[in-house]
Amino acid sequence: MKLPKSLSLANLPTKIEKLERLSKSLGDLEIYVKRDDQTGTEVSGNKVRKLEFAVQEALNQGCDYLITCGGIQSNHARATAAVAAKLGMGAYLVLKGNSDEEIDGNYFLDKILGANIHFITLEEYMEKRGMIMEEIKESLAVKGHKAYILPEGASNGIGTFGYYKAMEEILHQEKEMGIHFDAIVTTVGSGGTYAGLFYANKINKSNADIYGINIAGDADYFKKRINELLQEAAMYTGKEIQYTQEELRIIDGYVGDGYALSRPEELIFIQQMAQLEGIILDPVYTAKAMYGLVEEIRKGTFKDYKKLLFIHTGGIFSLFSSRNQFY
Ligand SMILES: *Cc1c(COP(=O)(O)O)cnc(C)c1O
Repeated sequence: MKLPKSLSLANLPTKIEKLERLSKSLGDLEIYVKRDDQTGTEVSGNKVRKLEFAVQEALNQGCDYLITCGGIQSNHARATAAVAAKLGMGAYLVLKGNSDEEIDGNYFLDKILGANIHFITLEEYMEKRGMIMEEIKESLAVKGHKAYILPEGASNGIGTFGYYKAMEEILHQEKEMGIHFDAIVTTVGSGGTYAGLFYANKINKSNADIYGINIAGDADYFKKRINELLQEAAMYTGKEIQYTQEELRIIDGYVGDGYALSRPEELIFIQQMAQLEGIILDPVYTAKAMYGLVEEIRKGTFKDYKKLLFIHTGGIFSLFSSRNQFY
């Protein structure tokens, strides 16, 4: 299948490593991790894969500004700021929070990367972030600029191809490594990573079960959202896929105290994984998902699988801004 044109911004392919000690501690299942936390330094994490496609679309349209939104510690906003700087574009980040926030983690990098930051309240974010981004776009148009609006997490039809391509990368690596993953697990924050993996898994007739563990909202919300993303993506390729709703395997129950709020067990888990495997998880996404994954493995949810691949979607910089919760 022919994918939309894309930029080359990420360090690819990312490595797949076996988590020897974690696997051993949990039984017979072999657990591997795909190091998408190593897609780059400034662009580290999963968002740059989506930006390769979405920002190409922006350039195709003649845009010279990128506008996007997220939490104050948004990995996506930081990656967008880095990509904009690299390409000589302007960036506007509409962030949940206010200017009193400590300048740390991703927000610190946003500033160093020269992004324009526009703070809004949580309520504004929930109710009218789209409108606020449109207003910024209009104000830029008055000054002769053309802006491209990226939704939260770059999860739209075009962004979906980032993880479509990542799934094909995984299939290629499976061949090279002489193994097959029968379960692939990712964090779900806005659904684009899951949708891309799912789409490519179907199109390539690979028979992996794709699991998502949501770290906000609930499973019903994300299933709906993933259905929409799959339709939007198919508009670019003309290829719809057949699937049942049961195949959208979203494991709910690990949101904990809410988006970007950590429970003690999650913070302890970050330290356990660091000390067991030398891998640093982030508190907002991957720690919750992997904590959930380990709980589910213990409960037997994955007992029929042999080899499982967890996508480490990044997030390291937000860990620094949460240091006070640890010590
Ligand atoms: C955005 C993000 C996710 C969630 O990916 P979606 O495609 O938005 O579901 C997971 N992990 C990290 C570190 C992220 O920044």
